[in-house]
Amino acid sequence: MSINLDKKFNWYNNKQTPLLIAGPCSAESKEQVINTAKKLKKENINIYRAGIWKPRTRPGSFEGVGSIGLEWLKEAKQQTGIPVATEVANTYHVDQALKADIDVLWIGARTSVNPFAVQEIADALAGIDIPVMIKNPVNPDLSLWLGAFERFNKVGIKKLAAIHRGFSTHEKTIFRNKPQWQIPIELKKRMPELPIICDPSHIAGNRELLYKISQKAIDLNFNGLMLESHINPNLALSDKNQQVTPKDLKQIIAKIIIRKHKSSDNQYKTQIAELRQQIDNVDEELLNLLCERMNIAEMVGKLKSDNGVTILKTARWREILRNRTQSGEQKGLSKAFVIKLLKAIHQESINRQASVMEPLN
Ligand code: PEP
Ligand code: MN
Repeated sequence: MSINLDKKFNWYNNKQTPLLIAGPCSAESKEQVINTAKKLKKENINIYRAGIWKPRTRPGSFEGVGSIGLEWLKEAKQQTGIPVATEVANTYHVDQALKADIDVLWIGARTSVNPFAVQEIADALAGIDIPVMIKNPVNPDLSLWLGAFERFNKVGIKKLAAIHRGFSTHEKTIFRNKPQWQIPIELKKRMPELPIICDPSHIAGNRELLYKISQKAIDLNFNGLMLESHINPNLALSDKNQQVTPKDLKQIIAKIIIRKHKSSDNQYKTQIAELRQQIDNVDEELLNLLCERMNIAEMVGKLKSDNGVTILKTARWREILRNRTQSGEQKGLSKAFVIKLLKAIHQESINRQASVMEPLN
């Protein structure tokens, strides 16, 4: 299902630069909210963020200041002129946020997993013209994420954006939430008009990785970044390891290289056209070879069938896997890629062998 977005709505104040959303993980005090906003104004951020109700994994941690924080956000907006955003996780939050004139709402990763919660929030926003950003669900499930956009779109919300904040994993990785870039890339393919913003803070979980993740997102054509920034990160009541001061945020942003979508340089155009021609030729050769391989597979199937032999030979498959991944690695192809490719080829090969198997008499 495609979604119907408000094409006139401009998330960006300047189309050349990515949208920049920044602010503390949580609103903690009036002073912190306003001082951080004032500092971030100098960095030309487009939207100021702060969590008011914090969905914490375990009870007992700081769960947000509640509705009073909305007043602080409102005041930050009055003093800086920057639109403000906060997370809503139920209809009470929606009601409070709308009363406080919050400009942009976002749905957190622990809410977008739950279609009942998403539907309730969407229903509470029916007929209201407000931008909504939806974080990916904590689990790597693209359909669930797509479904959330569809639910909001169905009640008439046309100003939507996605926030990629990485996915929970049981295994330990260098990331707090594994990026699994293929998922937001697939989302972009399915909903090309939808802006996608990367949230390097929740992917990284620490300050050190913020620049690298931000640069990667921009290189992948993401439309913006959401970064957590706190006037005194070491004293932050939530997510302190990943928050940076507005000054450090400035340095991260300044380092990011913005690449062009295309170039009008003639030499570049000739070179890229030549390389693409080469790719087209190689793809054609690959398809011819795959076709040849499948024809051989059919001959194998026929031979096995004539001799009353079964199709699947696990020892042969293991041997192919071992030998091809080794050969691929020697040629500089990653093992994971060769395995994925071989599995797809082998499956099709089995299908083709099975298709020529004659029923036994
Ligand atoms: C947040 O943005 O502070 C937050 C709670 O994020 P997430 O929903 O991505 O965990
Ligand atoms: Mn946070």
